[in-house]
Amino acid sequence: MPALDVQKLRKDFPNLNLKVYGKPLVYLDNAATTFKPQYVVDAISNHYAHGASNVHRGVHFLSEQATKAYEDSRQTVKVFLNAKSTQEIIFTRGTTESINLVAQSFGRTFFKEGDEILISAMEHHSNIVPWQILCQQIGCTLKVAPMNQKGELLYEEFVRLLTPKTRLVAMVYVSNSLGTINPIARVIKEAHSRNIPVLVDGAQAVTHHPVDVQALDCDFFAFSGHKIFGPTGIGVLYGKQQFLESMPPYQGGGDMIASVSFAKTTYNVLPYKFEAGTPAIAEVIGLNAAIKYVQAIGLENMAAYKKELLFYGTNILCSVPGVRLIGTAREKTSILSFVVEGIHPHDLGTIVDEDGVAIRTGHHCTQPVMEFFKVPATARASLAFYNTKEEIDILVKAIYRAKEIFK
Ligand code: PLP
Repeated sequence: MPALDVQKLRKDFPNLNLKVYGKPLVYLDNAATTFKPQYVVDAISNHYAHGASNVHRGVHFLSEQATKAYEDSRQTVKVFLNAKSTQEIIFTRGTTESINLVAQSFGRTFFKEGDEILISAMEHHSNIVPWQILCQQIGCTLKVAPMNQKGELLYEEFVRLLTPKTRLVAMVYVSNSLGTINPIARVIKEAHSRNIPVLVDGAQAVTHHPVDVQALDCDFFAFSGHKIFGPTGIGVLYGKQQFLESMPPYQGGGDMIASVSFAKTTYNVLPYKFEAGTPAIAEVIGLNAAIKYVQAIGLENMAAYKKELLFYGTNILCSVPGVRLIGTAREKTSILSFVVEGIHPHDLGTIVDEDGVAIRTGHHCTQPVMEFFKVPATARASLAFYNTKEEIDILVKAIYRAKEIFK
């Protein structure tokens, strides 16, 4: 496996040259959103500068050009996820919208009072709240598979919670606040052995390693463009064709129809049935560029390097007196959540920011995880392939400065 030339690759990201408070920016907030390479920025600005037009609606040159670029991106996503067909690739605003789509279209149509939806204890709010809304609407019940003190799914408990009433398992692949990589293939196999479909929240997983939805055999898979070096406002819902065919539209409007009259409306074929209104065309084009960028470097190469960073970061953070890591799963990705004794994470975040270090502090949209670990919040350093050991050292130095201040 070729080693990454990180210093060379860093040049692709204009934001990595930024200075904050006169200091070089150390950006360690990649689980919240990743920086965009110039290649992606150019793809978006090229669209606006040389051909912005609406898709699917015009016969004129620019509209056909925009439609081609838009559909090319769908083809890229299809290959990226190894979906069977582009009909299974729905463009959404992001992971959150993808999950809401499944809850409101699939869940509201096919689940009934007393049915159960099973999630895990480490879900992002976007894989909790859509199901709670659905439960309120139709009277189904949300069940939660617990985790241990390392932040690992208690697999036997998960299996025990699968009942004849379970209609869906919705689970995060890689936890954004703990870094845990769930045994998602095993989860899917287990659920399928009971004929229960599975939705995978892949928001953090797509930057971690290659995803093959056919090999996983998941029924739905959601991710966001901005977590994989692409634009905000664009995401994907992959769904198996047989499920998507059976589901009613999520929203009504232009593009999702075959014909409209006041008496009766018929719907467009997949995937357009789920893409009402003018889509985020520039963002779809940007996502295409982002995926191509990632593919050119190789997700495996990135993962191997990030593993090194994780090992280095874990060791050095654990050597700082008073630091406690939250999330120590055996299988984890390059996310380091921690608390420092005597310093509130928000204070820590503010102090390290003065040194140019951007980390996230808070509950990371996983309040139940904070409750489980009995902490109000954590500080989180989430590492991308463009981060370096030197940047981790700068973070650690900044933590020592915070400790001095709070002594
Ligand atoms: N799921 C996980 C695991 C996440 O990390 C995030 C974002 O942080 C989401 C879902 C929601 O993604 P978005 O806000 O892009 O819809």
